[in-house]
Amino acid sequence: MPKKKSAPDWNYAPAPESSSQVNLAKRYDHFIGGKWTPPSNQSYFTSTNPATGKKIAEVADGSPTDVEAAVKAARAAYKGSWGKMSGRERGKYLYRIARLIQERAREFAIIETLDGGKPIREARDIDIPLAANHFFYHAGWADKLDYAFPNQKTAPLGVAGQIIPWNFPFLMAAWKIAPALATGNTVVLKPAETTPLTALKLAELIADAGLPDGVVNIVTGAGETGAAIVNHGDIDKIAFTGSTAVGKLIQKSLAHTEKRLTLELGGKAANIILDDAPIDQAVEGIVNGIYFNQGHVCCAGSRLFVQENVFDEVMWKLKRRMDSLIVGDPLDKNTDIGAINSKAQLKTIQRYIKAGIKDGGEIYQPSCDLPAKGNWCLPTVFTNVAQSSIIAQEEIFGPVLAVQTFRTVPEVIEKANNTPYGLSAGVWSDKGARLFQLTKSLQAGVVWGNTFNQFDPTSPFGGFKESGYGREGGLHGLAAYLNLEFS
Ligand code: NAP
Ligand code: MG
Repeated sequence: MPKKKSAPDWNYAPAPESSSQVNLAKRYDHFIGGKWTPPSNQSYFTSTNPATGKKIAEVADGSPTDVEAAVKAARAAYKGSWGKMSGRERGKYLYRIARLIQERAREFAIIETLDGGKPIREARDIDIPLAANHFFYHAGWADKLDYAFPNQKTAPLGVAGQIIPWNFPFLMAAWKIAPALATGNTVVLKPAETTPLTALKLAELIADAGLPDGVVNIVTGAGETGAAIVNHGDIDKIAFTGSTAVGKLIQKSLAHTEKRLTLELGGKAANIILDDAPIDQAVEGIVNGIYFNQGHVCCAGSRLFVQENVFDEVMWKLKRRMDSLIVGDPLDKNTDIGAINSKAQLKTIQRYIKAGIKDGGEIYQPSCDLPAKGNWCLPTVFTNVAQSSIIAQEEIFGPVLAVQTFRTVPEVIEKANNTPYGLSAGVWSDKGARLFQLTKSLQAGVVWGNTFNQFDPTSPFGGFKESGYGREGGLHGLAAYLNLEFS
C-alpha cells in the first residue's frame, strides 16, 4: 500500500459568485392571503449568513394569531376559486411557477447559499433545478389525477400545514407545495428559523405567477409557530420534515384528531462497500454521501461499512480524497464543503466528535485553513468504531463518518439494519445479483446501487421505522394529498 501523501500542492484560484445582483429586503413580513402582513405582535428575528455571522434580513416571528390569519386565508382560497378550478388550469400555474424558478435560478441559488451556508455549486446544480423539476413534474399530474389513480375518485384534502427544516430550504418548500397544489389543496408553510429567505422569495415569485390569493401562505417563526400550525383546528393535513424528536411530538399531538400526517424524519444511512466494488467510484460516493451539504442531509451515508479485505485500500483512497476537499467560502464555485448552518448545530457536531474520540474511535481530519469568522467543521472520519458507539448510533447531521468493517453479507445486513432509523442506504458492487440481494434486505426507504444521494421527483422518497412514514414524490407522494375512494 503506498504511503499517505500530504495535501496536494495545487490550488484553484478563488472563483466567488457575486451576490451584487441579489435583491433582498431589510425586513420580511408574513405572506398571507397574497399580501405581505406584519406580525401581530410586531416581533421580528434575524436571519444571518452562517459563513460570516453577518445579519442578512429581519423576518417576522409568527404568533398563533398570524397562523390563524394564514389558515383563514388558505381556507377561503380553498372554498373559493382554487377549490373550483379545473386540474388543467391549476397545472398552468404550476408550469408558470416552474418556469419562473428557472428564469430566476441564479438569484435563488445565491440567496440559498447566503442564508444557509451550502456551497453555491450545490445550490446552483442541485437544489434550485430540482425544485423547478418538482413543479414541472407535478404540473403534469394536475389534470391527470383520474389516470394516476384509475377506478378511484380523487378529492383534495383541503388546507395543508407544512413545516420544513434548514438543510434544503427551497427544495423542501417545492417538495411540499408542488404536490399540494397539483392535487387542489391550499397551503400554510413554515420554513426553518435559520433559513427563511428563499421561501419568502418564493412567495414573491408565486405572486408574480398570479396564483390566486391565499393558495400559498408563508408564515415565518421558530418551533412555536410550527406547533401553532400543527395544533390548529382547521387544518386537514400536516406534512412535516425535520427531526425524529419533533416528529414524535407532532404525532402525539395529532393522535386524537382526524388530521392526515406525513413525517419525513432523521436517518443514519449505511453505505456498504463490497470487495468487488469499483473502489474509485465508491470513494467518490462515500464523499458525496457524507460530505455533501456539510453532512446536513437526512439520508447522508453517515455509517460506512467496508468489506475487510478492501478496507486498507478504501481508507487510503478516502483520506487522500478528503485531503483535496475545499472547505470555506460557500459562494466560491470551487468550494466542496460550506458553512455549518448555525452555531448550535456546530456545537452539536463538535460534541459528537468528542464523544467519538472518547468511545475509542480513531479520528482523521485533513489539515486545512478555515476562515476566521463563521461556522466551520472539517470533513471527519472515524475508524475503529464499535457498533455501540454513539457516533455509529445517533444522527449527527454534520460531516462526520463512522467506519466499520464486515466479513460476510449476512453480517453487514445485520449491522446495517441495527438502527432505529430506516431512511436510505447505499451498496457498491460489480455484480447486479449481489446488489439486489442486499437492497432487498436493507430496511430503508431508498437504497442506491453504485451511487448515492440521487433524487428525482418521479421517485417516492420516505422512511421506515423512526425515519417517519408517508412518501414524497412520485404517485405515492401525490396520493398523500388526496382522498381516494374506489368508484
Ligand atoms: P427540527 O428541529 O425538527 O425542525 C424542523 C422544523 O420544525 C423547523 O421548521 C422547526 O422550526 C420546526 N419545529 C421545531 N419544533 C417544532 C414543534 N414543536 N412543532 C412544530 N414544528 C416545530 O429539525 P431540524 O434540526 O431543523 O432539521 C434537521 C432534521 O431534519 C434532521 O433530523 C434531519 O434528518 C431531518 N430531515 C429529514 C428529511 C427527510 O426527508 N426525512 C429531510 C431533511 C431533514 P425552527 O427550525 O424554526 O425552530
Ligand atoms: Mg440564515
